[in-house]
Amino acid sequence: MIPSGAVDLELPQEHRLLQETIREFCDREVEPVVADHERARRFPADLVRRIGEMGWLGIPYPESEGGAGMDTLAYAVAVEEIARTWGSLALIVAAHTSLGSAPIHLFGTPEQKQRFLVPLAAGRVLGAYGLTEPGAGSDAGATRTSARRDGDAWVIDGEKRFITNAGRAGTYVVAARTGTRPDGSAQVSAFIVPADAPGFSVGRLEEKMGLHASATGELHFDGCRVPADHLLGREGEGFPLFLQVLDGGRISIAAMALGLAQAALEASTTYAREREQFGRPIGSFEGVAFMVADMATEIAAARGLVRRAAWLKDRGGPYRLEAAQAKLYASEVASRATSAAVQIHGGYGYVEEYRVERYLRDAKLTEIGEGTSQIQRLVIGREILGLRVG
Ligand SMILES: Cc1cc2nc3c(=O)[nH]c(=O)nc-3n(C[C@H](O)[C@H](O)[C@H](O)COP(=O)(O)OP(=O)(O)OC[C@H]3O[C@@H](n4cnc5c(N)ncnc54)[C@H](O)[C@@H]3O)c2cc1C
Repeated sequence: MIPSGAVDLELPQEHRLLQETIREFCDREVEPVVADHERARRFPADLVRRIGEMGWLGIPYPESEGGAGMDTLAYAVAVEEIARTWGSLALIVAAHTSLGSAPIHLFGTPEQKQRFLVPLAAGRVLGAYGLTEPGAGSDAGATRTSARRDGDAWVIDGEKRFITNAGRAGTYVVAARTGTRPDGSAQVSAFIVPADAPGFSVGRLEEKMGLHASATGELHFDGCRVPADHLLGREGEGFPLFLQVLDGGRISIAAMALGLAQAALEASTTYAREREQFGRPIGSFEGVAFMVADMATEIAAARGLVRRAAWLKDRGGPYRLEAAQAKLYASEVASRATSAAVQIHGGYGYVEEYRVERYLRDAKLTEIGEGTSQIQRLVIGREILGLRVG
């Protein structure tokens, strides 16, 4: 085992047990199917169902809401562990849990929780979250999708882009404009949209650089009607709701980054011990050993940031700053570590057989999704300076 924090003696026993169980599951059931699914760009529907049965699609939610009754730390450990084997599966789980389910957990009425969150957290239905649009990415306030009240229903028109679990989710949480404030900015509300809502459809799925087995696609709302009680939270108060959801989601993307970086470190360590050039293992050359040393050190630091953010969230304190720091740092560590892993593998790193090229492609997303690195720096700057930055 790598002296890098992979054996997490600092974790509480319950969390360590979860980590070990997921690791065994991933070694036994996930690893053998990764390469095939990635090559075929095939969504792992069977595995997602299995993971749901294991209770891993509702880790941080109370049992009364269909979840496993654990905490954010447990969830972060789980996402890291899954990403260590398969980035696509980790992204599916993270988008479902932190984005599709969290808004209902945080802002749902008791009826909404029973009807929508329980099946999500129990793993019977997959969730997704639609914030991004063609013209509204980093600037989520530029949302054009609109919703208007019509009798006892809301009618939604517009489109979303880059939505994880598109076409696979049964329940979508979606941002739509319901009015304009006096200063001209959008009044945004959140809606629960079941996949079979009339007027809702899934458009094109993206051909991505990495994470090939996760589905990323467009959502279309063409006079889409949902009953009035599918409004989530208060009308016009969706924007702070989405920001709060993103704070939590950033911890999971940071955990995913960590898992990819950890996988890169482990592959590099094995390879640097085994591969010989000039009659010696390449790991005995300082140029290679120092790359491994930097990877291991940065990963340990990133893990500390991820767990600090999770710990703060679990204690109910503010954690926006810490979640952004964890996401920024862990994602950049993942890109550096996975790139170093390719370098350490030389030509073998550039071909599929040794997997590290997949880690590198998958890691890049963690610097983009749920707020780019530039946006994380804006958030961190604002939180520290107390000024409007950007
Ligand atoms: C695989 C994948 C999965 C995704 N899943 C989801 C999902 O499930 N749900 C969802 O809603 N969205 C999802 N997204 C969308 C993702 O959150 C956005 O792509 C991301 O927020 C960036 O938005 P954008 O792509 O429009 O880029 P832009 O906002 O157009 O940014 C382009 C560049 O400009 C920079 N930039 C923008 N504004 C500033 C600024 N003020 N200061 C400095 N730099 C700035 C950015 O950092 C970036 O480098 C996903 C994206 C991908 C690729």
